[in-house]
Amino acid sequence: MIRLRQLRLPIDHKEEALHALVCKKLRMPGLTRDAWHIHQRAVDARKGKPLQFSYTVDVQLSEEEAILERLEKRSRGQISRAPDQHYHFLDQSCSSGTHRPVIIGTGPAGLFAGLLLARLGLKPILFERGKQAGPRARDVTKFWRTGAFEPESNVQFGEGGAGTFSDGKLYTQIKDRENRCRQVLRELAAHGAPEDILVNARPHIGTDRLILVLRRLRETIFDLGGEIRYESKMTDLLVEGGAVRGIRLASGDEVRADQVILAVGHSARDVFEHLAALGVPMEAKSFSIGTRIEHPQAMIDRTQYGRWAGHARLGSAAYRFVHHGRDKRSVYSFCMCPGGLVVGATSEPERLVTNGMSSYARDEANANAGFMVEVRPGDFPNSDDPLAGMRFQRELEAKAFQLGGGDYRAPAQMLGDFVKGKGTSELGDVRPSFRPGVTLTDLRECLPPFVVKALQESIPNIARRLPGFDRHDAILTAIESRSSSPLRVTRGDDLQSTGLRGLYPAGEGAGYAGGIISAAVDGLRVAEAVAATASSPSQ
Ligand SMILES: Cc1cc2nc3c(=O)[nH]c(=O)nc-3n(C[C@H](O)[C@H](O)[C@H](O)COP(=O)(O)OP(=O)(O)OC[C@H]3O[C@@H](n4cnc5c(N)ncnc54)[C@H](O)[C@@H]3O)c2cc1C
Repeated sequence: MIRLRQLRLPIDHKEEALHALVCKKLRMPGLTRDAWHIHQRAVDARKGKPLQFSYTVDVQLSEEEAILERLEKRSRGQISRAPDQHYHFLDQSCSSGTHRPVIIGTGPAGLFAGLLLARLGLKPILFERGKQAGPRARDVTKFWRTGAFEPESNVQFGEGGAGTFSDGKLYTQIKDRENRCRQVLRELAAHGAPEDILVNARPHIGTDRLILVLRRLRETIFDLGGEIRYESKMTDLLVEGGAVRGIRLASGDEVRADQVILAVGHSARDVFEHLAALGVPMEAKSFSIGTRIEHPQAMIDRTQYGRWAGHARLGSAAYRFVHHGRDKRSVYSFCMCPGGLVVGATSEPERLVTNGMSSYARDEANANAGFMVEVRPGDFPNSDDPLAGMRFQRELEAKAFQLGGGDYRAPAQMLGDFVKGKGTSELGDVRPSFRPGVTLTDLRECLPPFVVKALQESIPNIARRLPGFDRHDAILTAIESRSSSPLRVTRGDDLQSTGLRGLYPAGEGAGYAGGIISAAVDGLRVAEAVAATASSPSQ
């Protein structure tokens, strides 16, 4: 297979134009259309250049060697052999261990670990504290409508994990030498995600489609002999002689297992307290605190796409930014949701947590993003204690809850007022999307002073790159505190806990991922490690 890169065409190009360009680059006017397929499509938005699409195309030819010899050297990297994209781990055969592997959590890390172990014939059992996606969605919608909070069925807990109610952005900056990212995208597409996730450089699914995908993934795990038990919270790890021997559930039932994948996400604070009590090695790590920021999507489309704003092929525009402040603390956009909603995402009562989500169509009036400030362990008290970051988050979330009025409305402020250091009493043109509603206030009352300062200082710089970002009536909603885990459960080269054999910490909660794809990829890595150590016949 030959790969052609940087095939650039105008946004409104005709379908045939790409075929003509492929033929031209290969100097093969007679090439048939079925000889090539698009590997990737990106929007090329370099400053000073016209907005255009940039395609990467893979071509299947019989005389590849001769063509590469003729064209590769002079192509300036545009033409080369296509890299191997196969996920080789699935080619292995595995024998199962004494007990079936157990996975705690059905977020992306747990589900993809489960799917791989099931495909390898190891019949994993997955335990999920929350409900299946359907009933979970009803609880979450009710919470957003009325403020009726369910501690075990919410935006963080339940089938699909934290990403179920999300924009479903499916990109990551992690390296992918073993093709795990590609494998995750292939599995998602095979289970009902839009096929375009396999070619778009910035793929997304949207909450509406994700729920269907989850149902199909669940069915595949069942069909392959795996099991998923919902409303089954793990309360204890059973430990003997420095190794895991099983788990205990909230019901009191015990399940024997020599290999437990712990993929509980960053909000399973009770699990981290339990690990600390067991003496499982953990360390504090940096995380972030901030707010959501909302602007009109039409404004973001204009700033990003200029005259092409609103073009059907482009959809709603996204943005990202990073700003390094005077003390080298970074301020950055997180989980930007074009045409989305700001949502309540707490997993604990009487705490307020914001995040963002979109449907596949991304057709809501506002664009929103986390507006985050890096928090380092030295920024909060007792930072030698791995649980100190978690306590700091809790304290801020409780303050935000009180500031919002104590009924799950979120505290909110206009950006212009935030910059001037005065509370908001009246909104401008931008309407906050948060439900059940917001309380207009002064966010300095719930944000740490160093976060306020870093956000305020970054605004002029960001607005230079993203005109309109600093508009007076942009809405800030607080508090965005769960963008990543405040701790890491340390693991060795074999991906097992450094203090407890048989425990495989995985995904975002354990500190090894930040997002849907990287969590799913970490789930695959850990499952590969589990499969590699499984040996004796199954029970
Ligand atoms: C609203 C929102 C929007 C987001 N949008 C995006 C996005 O667009 N793109 C992106 O890449 N990332 C997004 N994220 C982040 C992404 O969802 C997470 O990075 C990802 O889900 C982490 O995967 P995980 O499997 O490690 O953990 P999680 O997804 O958190 O899953 C952990 C699972 O473990 C279960 N669990 C916890 N404790 C126990 C226990 N004791 N017993 C049994 N089960 C337990 C939980 O119920 C949960 O289902 C978003 C997050 C949120 C909240």
